[in-house]
Amino acid sequence: MKDYYQILGVSRDADAEEIKRVFRQLARETHPDANPDDPSAEARFREVAEAYEVLSDPDKRARYDRGETLEFGDLFANFGSLNDLLGSLFGGGGFGFGSNPFGTQAQQRSGQDLLVEAHVTLAEAAGGAEKSLSFTAPQGCPTCEATGAAPGTIPETCPQCAGHGAVQVARRTMLGTMATLQTCDRCHGRGEVVAEPCPTCQGAQLVDEPRTLTVGIPAGVNTGSRLRLRGEGGEGPAGTRSGDLYVHVVVAPDPRFERDGDDLWHRLTVGVTEAILGTQVEVPLINDEPMKMDVPAGTQPGTVVRVPRRGMGRLNGRGRGDLLVEVRVDIPVKLSTEEEEAVRRLAELRSESPAEGRSRRRRR
Ligand SMILES: [Zn+2]
Ligand SMILES: [Zn+2]
Repeated sequence: MKDYYQILGVSRDADAEEIKRVFRQLARETHPDANPDDPSAEARFREVAEAYEVLSDPDKRARYDRGETLEFGDLFANFGSLNDLLGSLFGGGGFGFGSNPFGTQAQQRSGQDLLVEAHVTLAEAAGGAEKSLSFTAPQGCPTCEATGAAPGTIPETCPQCAGHGAVQVARRTMLGTMATLQTCDRCHGRGEVVAEPCPTCQGAQLVDEPRTLTVGIPAGVNTGSRLRLRGEGGEGPAGTRSGDLYVHVVVAPDPRFERDGDDLWHRLTVGVTEAILGTQVEVPLINDEPMKMDVPAGTQPGTVVRVPRRGMGRLNGRGRGDLLVEVRVDIPVKLSTEEEEAVRRLAELRSESPAEGRSRRRRR
């Protein structure tokens, strides 16, 4: 087991203040950005940071003192937390180094986020669907195994930035000399240079490949809904995480329905005699099973019948919207002589006084 006290150069009974003070000093001295020409600086810095991580935490320190084996698997997996730690120790920017000490910039880059469209029918949007999406995505080049180097060659550490991807530039200011970091122009921040680029990807490490992915579209989506699938985007350079896949949903209109949030409207047209005497009709449902519906005698035009839970599924997964059936009455515009006689007979019986000579007026 490593001797963390020895690494920090403190005694076994050093208090928290002393450990913090010593770590600040050592972190400054061993930070890779302060030692651009020393490739071993990063390893030393990691060791110092690991020692501090354990000894600055009373619980971890107690376990370490008891000789327990500590799991460091996750300790440095999250570089962000250590950068936060450095930030809190040295103040925002006060440390003077901008780069992540635990990786070159190349390792921090991640794969490209991709945006694809998923076209679904209104029925699929109502009930949810599995859609197979085909798109092109950057993937690690198979020829060079995503190194960018021609087969038989390997990428070399960039001599200009010693693999850090950035170089420190001294800048004189009124407050004295300030160290700032600039992206290395030799390797463009990758930290590595390739003498002979891979013939397939021309050194880009990635190639565009067709990909097909089955995506679950949740019930209740609408045009403009966007799903995010973490890590399903483009692969990044070796050792980095893939980008995310954004799925932009486009819902095709359905001539049978009009959508109003989670509810669906269906316009039902019945004949004038059906509205008067009542009828039974078939109303379409979004899942295509037809539903019988009674239109009672004397139904007025514009009557709305609410059919519960036959609308769209809700995005939050709770329940469904309703189906609203609006009844329209088809007033005939063309009547045969016989039909006109029947209507006039009805008018007489109801003591109504329709205009005379309807057919002549319509012909004008
Ligand atoms: Zn470089
Ligand atoms: Zn390649």
